[in-house]
Amino acid sequence: MKSLILAPWIAWQAYQAENQMPLVVVSDSKSHSFATIENEYAKLWIKMLTPGSQRVVDSVFAENNKDYIEALHHEDILIDMSRDIECQETQPMKPPKPIQIGGKVTRKDLEYQELEEKVKQVAEEQGKLWTFFWETTYNCNEKCIHCFNPGASHHEDEKSQRNTKRIDRSRIISLLDELRQLGVFRIVFSGGEILVSNDWEFLLSEANSRAFELHVYTNGVLLDDRNMRSLAKCWPQSVSISIYSTNPKTHDAITRTPFSHEYSIKALRDLYDAGIKTTIKSPIMKQTSAELDDLARLAESLGARISFDTMISAGNDGNLYPTSHNLTWDQLLVLALNQLSPTYVGDRSRSFGKISKDPQSPVCGAGRSIMSMAPDGRIMPCCALPIEVGDVSYESMTSIWEQAIAANNTMRLGQVRDDHKKINKLEDWRSVMLQDYLECGKHERCAWCHKCPGAALNETSDVYLPSEVQCRIASSRMVIAEQLENGRSENEIMDLISNNQIQQPLLHYHVYTPRNC
Ligand code: SF4
Ligand code: SF4
Repeated sequence: MKSLILAPWIAWQAYQAENQMPLVVVSDSKSHSFATIENEYAKLWIKMLTPGSQRVVDSVFAENNKDYIEALHHEDILIDMSRDIECQETQPMKPPKPIQIGGKVTRKDLEYQELEEKVKQVAEEQGKLWTFFWETTYNCNEKCIHCFNPGASHHEDEKSQRNTKRIDRSRIISLLDELRQLGVFRIVFSGGEILVSNDWEFLLSEANSRAFELHVYTNGVLLDDRNMRSLAKCWPQSVSISIYSTNPKTHDAITRTPFSHEYSIKALRDLYDAGIKTTIKSPIMKQTSAELDDLARLAESLGARISFDTMISAGNDGNLYPTSHNLTWDQLLVLALNQLSPTYVGDRSRSFGKISKDPQSPVCGAGRSIMSMAPDGRIMPCCALPIEVGDVSYESMTSIWEQAIAANNTMRLGQVRDDHKKINKLEDWRSVMLQDYLECGKHERCAWCHKCPGAALNETSDVYLPSEVQCRIASSRMVIAEQLENGRSENEIMDLISNNQIQQPLLHYHVYTPRNC
């Protein structure tokens, strides 16, 4: 039998299912599919690969399990080792077209999300880390007015003070090996701008050789033919590019980079033509609040998914300037009625957006299913939550993660933090539950809030305080929900908004005094 390897478009990781049998998750960037393999087939998958390798098939196993191997070979999951060079010429299939007008996603995307959620939960229950968010560099070729990177310049009068320190290549290799052992399935590579980093091709190809599922966040401006070929060789599952407006002038004014709109749109087109799944990321600001429908149409015409964000958070260094771009009260009200907006409240069947939350639960996946690393090796629970819980420049990621899992397993709820301010380690952060926040969960509007502890920390320097930006968004959703609940139609509510008849309620706090009061 020929020497076989797992094709470079396949990413996989193994977990343990509830019945103690292995559960293997597999993603295929050529056919854009995602699947789980269970029970005996999962056992075979794990045994099939040479110990210590994520791609090379064990020849003795292959000899003894010809049917299984043949089936995988037939599906283009296994390929001849000699075809490795040819793979560089293999084109993925065109990504399935998204249907987004009206806030819908494709059936395939939905199935992917549901299955992924299931496996992510299995991984988390076993103390495995699912996603690693890797900030490759803080350097960037754009100068966005809302950038949350520490040291970013946002306007002419602000000098960039970005930290340019990065971990070296030998640490990149050993860290990737550690992440594999910790159960990581997905790595999201971002920046700054990943394509300005000298290491990006090395990093992505090493990650691909270890069979991680790769996601890349870039502005796409530097994605010329050469870079596109290098990127395609690493088989990213998706590439996300930020587009702020359908109007090039508005977009370029936000990036403060001439022609950036043209280059980013070209990159999205080229990626789609190369068979790479794309997402447009679109943070909505004052100047673009009326553009959601146009942006969704643009995404559709480019074969891209779209992801809107209606909150601009403060910088990770506490710089409040980016928050000045947040939507006005009236704009927030309008978006709460727009199906495309993440703040959309929905109808009665969705309780007009009201969510009940368990006070004894964490508020998000930061430090549980996700961990994040700054370019210089500092480890944080999430890229938006700059609490340093370790540094892989001088300690192992394994010890940071495993000590936290071991400590949390033996800890009673709230045991670590008699003093509310003390979060030095990952286990401290993991013990923080909704009930521990000083204001969050204690007001009526909180039932409409997608609370982000990172937003609160960056705005106030205290993770236990509320984010005023989020309190306003939650209030706007609550007020619109009340109007709908009282039987008002969307048109009637829109009339009230245009006549300034829906006032912003005073934000009430128990122990916190907002800065502007
Ligand atoms: S940020 Fe504001 S609205 Fe959101 S949970 Fe905290 S107090 Fe409630
Ligand atoms: S809610 Fe905020 S801190 Fe939590 S995972 Fe999301 S971005 Fe990160």
